[in-house]
Amino acid sequence: MIQLYAPLSFLGVIYREIRQALTDIERMFTILEQHRDIADVPGAKPLVVTHGSVCFEDVYFGYVPGHPVLKGLSFEVPGGETVAIVGPSGAGKSTLSRLMFRFYDVDAGRITIDGQDIRQVSQASLRGALGLVPQDTVLFNDTIGYNIAYGRPGASQDEVEEVARAAQIQGFIERQPMGWQTQVGERGLKLSGGEKQRVAIARALLKNPPVLIFDEATSQLDSRNERAIQGEIRMAARNRTTLIIAHRLSTIVDAHQILVLDGGRIVERGTHAQLLELDGVYARMWALQRDDVRLDDDLDLQRVA
Ligand code: ATP
Repeated sequence: MIQLYAPLSFLGVIYREIRQALTDIERMFTILEQHRDIADVPGAKPLVVTHGSVCFEDVYFGYVPGHPVLKGLSFEVPGGETVAIVGPSGAGKSTLSRLMFRFYDVDAGRITIDGQDIRQVSQASLRGALGLVPQDTVLFNDTIGYNIAYGRPGASQDEVEEVARAAQIQGFIERQPMGWQTQVGERGLKLSGGEKQRVAIARALLKNPPVLIFDEATSQLDSRNERAIQGEIRMAARNRTTLIIAHRLSTIVDAHQILVLDGGRIVERGTHAQLLELDGVYARMWALQRDDVRLDDDLDLQRVA
C-alpha cells in the first residue's frame, strides 16, 4: 500500500502543478484577448507626461452595440489631484480604468493625458505611465518578495522593503517563519483581501507611475482595516494624479473631487462637504454607509468586550 501511495501522491502534485499552469495560461489569454483589437497608430509617439493631468471629454462607450455604458462623460483630474468615482454596481466605474489602459477604445469623445489623446501614443508608454491597484490582485506562485518586486523588475531588496513598509505589509511579512521567502498564491500562504491589496499598493509604489488608478475591492473590510487602507491610499496618492473607484465612501472624504456616476452619466460632482450640502444621491449613500460602519464598530466593541 505504501509502495502505491508514494507514486500516487507524486501524481497528485504533478496534477496540481499542471492545473495551476493552465490557470495562469488561461489568465494570460484572457488579458491578451481583451487587447486584440487595439493597435498602435502607425508612427505612434511615446506619451510625454508633464503634469499628469487626465481628461475625459464627452466619452461614449459600450461593450456591445446598442448598449451604451458611458453616455457623454466629461471630467478632469488635474495633475497631482485625487478624483473619486462612486455609484451603484454596474454604473460603469471600472469601465473607466479599462478605457484608460486602452483595453478598449472609446466609441466617441476622447481621453487625454497632458493634452495627448491616448489613442495617438504608444501603448507601451501609456501603460508605463499608469499604475493600477486592482479589485482582485493576482498573486503568482512565488515568494512574497517576488510578488512585490514584480511592480518593477530589477528593483533591489532595499527598494522592495521600503515600499512594503509604506504599504504597511512589511511587519506581516517579517512575522512569517520564512520572511521574504514565504511562498504565496495557490500553493502557498493565502492572503486576506486587505493583505492582497497592500501587496498591490506596494507593487504600484515600486512602479512609481505619475497616474495611479485605485479600483477598490468590493469585498467587505471591517472598519479597522478600512481605516488602515484609507491611510495607505492617501499615502500612495500623495504627489501623483489619482483616480479612486470607490465602494466605501469613508476612503474618499478627502478627495479633491467626487463624481457620482449613475446610468453612464455623472449625476453629481463636488467635494464631500459640497455633496452632503446638496443632500442628493451622494448624501443618501453616505447616510446608509455610515450606519453600516456604526454597526461594524459595535460588533468590534462586542468582540473586544
Ligand atoms: P461594480 O461596482 O459592481 O464593480 P462598475 O460600476 O464598476 O460595477 P462596470 O464593471 O464598469 O461597473 O460595468 C458597467 C456595465 O458594463 C455593467 O452593466 C456590466 O455588466 C457591463 N460590462 C462590464 N464588462 C463587460 C464586458 N466585458 N462585456 C459586456 N458587458 C460588460
